[in-house]
Amino acid sequence: MSAGRERIAVVGAGLMGHGIAQVFACAGHPVAVQDPLPEALATVHSRVAANLARLGLPDEALARITVHDDLADALEGASFVFEAAPEDVALKVRLVEEITSVAAVDVIVASNTSSMPVALYTPRAVGAERVIGTHFWNPPYLIPLVEVVQGERTSAVTVERTMAVLSAAGKLPVHVRKDVPGFVANRLQHALWREAMSIVQQGIADAETVDLCVKNSFGLRLAVMGPLETADLGGLDLALNIHEQILPFIDRTPGALQILRDKVAAGELGMKTGQGFLPWTEEAVAAAHARLADHLIAALAPKKSPRCAPTTT
Ligand code: NAD
Repeated sequence: MSAGRERIAVVGAGLMGHGIAQVFACAGHPVAVQDPLPEALATVHSRVAANLARLGLPDEALARITVHDDLADALEGASFVFEAAPEDVALKVRLVEEITSVAAVDVIVASNTSSMPVALYTPRAVGAERVIGTHFWNPPYLIPLVEVVQGERTSAVTVERTMAVLSAAGKLPVHVRKDVPGFVANRLQHALWREAMSIVQQGIADAETVDLCVKNSFGLRLAVMGPLETADLGGLDLALNIHEQILPFIDRTPGALQILRDKVAAGELGMKTGQGFLPWTEEAVAAAHARLADHLIAALAPKKSPRCAPTTT
């Protein structure tokens, strides 16, 4: 069977699950989506259709997606299972146990956890060598990167097959060789967030200023030049000097910062409650979503998989 035709099962039809289903359906795979929540299943096709319409893409991929409330039905004939249920350790442990006990031993079982190492959710997996982490980024049909996380018991063949199916679907898979919390990209992202919050906590600058600094300086070049390329560009002697000067003053609090704990305790959760580090009106939230979507579509839409090429009309 060619890689392009292998059946894919997606467990969990939420924000990530429906987008992962879209990625594989656009690449020509039959995709079976499972979720216990009827509302989630009922809207899979309309959500994928809306994404395709926003991108100006044909909707022929919709016909390749089927929805199922029963897990065994969804797993029937699948070569890969992508689990995208909520980020809850006990739930993931239970689901991975259930999926691996139903799916044949050569079926690859991938979890889209944002942060958990493979070892955390595989204690009761049947055939742990075929269990792997695949960390897609939101929205999965636009953001190229997928971190492919190899657990201690994950086999090399599982890594190879997973990287191959993701590449063929137009994603940019990277192999994360150690099973660490946060993998690569979230460790980097949250190191930056901690320092950003610390700067506000210390009163060095307010939240708006912190974001302005990033968006109008190194944020502009990050999409085309990574931090290590940039260090090489400036010279490692300069990097060493700067590190000797400022690293002693960079925040190294081992847990979450007090400012973040206080905001969460006060119900200041960000856009969804109207106040986070910044105040958010409904109009400002809508404008922020549109700004991000427009930017991502302009930057990334040409990189989608060949089967999702825009119509020429
Ligand atoms: P979500 O809440 O939007 O969707 C989760 C879906 O899983 C829901 O439809 C829910 O009904 C379903 N579900 C609950 N229990 C289930 C079960 N037993 N079996 C099958 N489905 C079940 O969540 P999400 O944002 O799509 O996140 C899913 C996973 O992806 C999480 O592990 C999350 O950390 C990870 N992730 C999220 C993002 C993001 O930006 N939201 C990015 C990368 C990774």
